Amino acid sequence: MILEMENFNNFEEIKELLSNNFVNLHQLEYEQRKFIVISGDIESINLDEISNMLSVKKINSHVNSYYFCSKEFKDTPTVVKIGDIKIGDGNFVNIAGPCTVEKEVDLIENAEVIKKSGANILRAGAFKPRTTPYNFQGLGREGVTILEGVGKKVDIPIVTEVLNPEDVSWMEKRIDAFQVGTRNMTNTALLKKLGQSKKPVILKRSFSCGVIDWIKAAEFIVSLGNPNVILCERGIQSCETYTRFTLDLSAVAVAKQLTHLPVIVDPSHATGIPSLIPTMSKAAIAAGADGLMIEVHFDPNRMIKPGDSEQALLPKEYETLLKEMKAYIELEGKAYSV
Ligand code: PEP
Ligand code: MN
Repeated sequence: MILEMENFNNFEEIKELLSNNFVNLHQLEYEQRKFIVISGDIESINLDEISNMLSVKKINSHVNSYYFCSKEFKDTPTVVKIGDIKIGDGNFVNIAGPCTVEKEVDLIENAEVIKKSGANILRAGAFKPRTTPYNFQGLGREGVTILEGVGKKVDIPIVTEVLNPEDVSWMEKRIDAFQVGTRNMTNTALLKKLGQSKKPVILKRSFSCGVIDWIKAAEFIVSLGNPNVILCERGIQSCETYTRFTLDLSAVAVAKQLTHLPVIVDPSHATGIPSLIPTMSKAAIAAGADGLMIEVHFDPNRMIKPGDSEQALLPKEYETLLKEMKAYIELEGKAYSV
């Protein structure tokens, strides 16, 4: 249940009134409007007592489970800014970089080549969520520090994955955007912590969840006060084994229809096959994507193995792809973000 408020003067009173109900409540300011968000056993609430309070403008007792992300709440596209780069509402973003933060010299080289090719945000993972404990788990905070230094040196915004709620406050001072990986989309402790940050969050879809659950995961972040969420489709599990996952482009179209959030696509993890990345990138643009996240490495032989070295594009391939993509992006009425 959502109460739209004139102000929060009655907040403590409402809290006291509901103290014996099994509900959670918090204040939210979003789109210059004020709300009290109440979750739990809302059937048990005496609405008359609340509606009599002066500061309650409107009681919305049966909202859908992704209300603040939905077009029902806001029918204009949300623009999220990572550093100075705008994403959404016609602004198309190119995020690229290696899978993992490796040696600093290599990351500098990678950052320089992707920037030269036309990418506007650098990606690299310091905390690696692996399917097996026997793969390299990442450099952790040391890796974030290396990435921060490289971002500054090369003058490019940085995005990296966060695994642990306890790292959020430490990381937000050092990075331009968080990434939530496919294996953590349902980690509500992490999502709630990110809801308290103002840093943008790229929320990857779980490879085993439907579109609505993905949007509900975004709602955890947005409804707690962080409006800066970008959805990222990165492939789901299916009967297909030729590709690493199955890129679900209809999910992009659905997410664009149901929400006002920017939606981007990661064709690297979805296909796992470099030769398919250009085709799927163009298809993603046609499906309405507001950007692409692509793994690029100047020398995949230098990547940590086992890892994602098989799927990285070479700088030359990436540069060619960005040139080819331009016409597709323009056809959709969008332009590269600046
Ligand atoms: C990644 O971006 O390197 C990554 C691990 O992505 P995903 O969570 O989509 O597997
Ligand atoms: Mn990867």
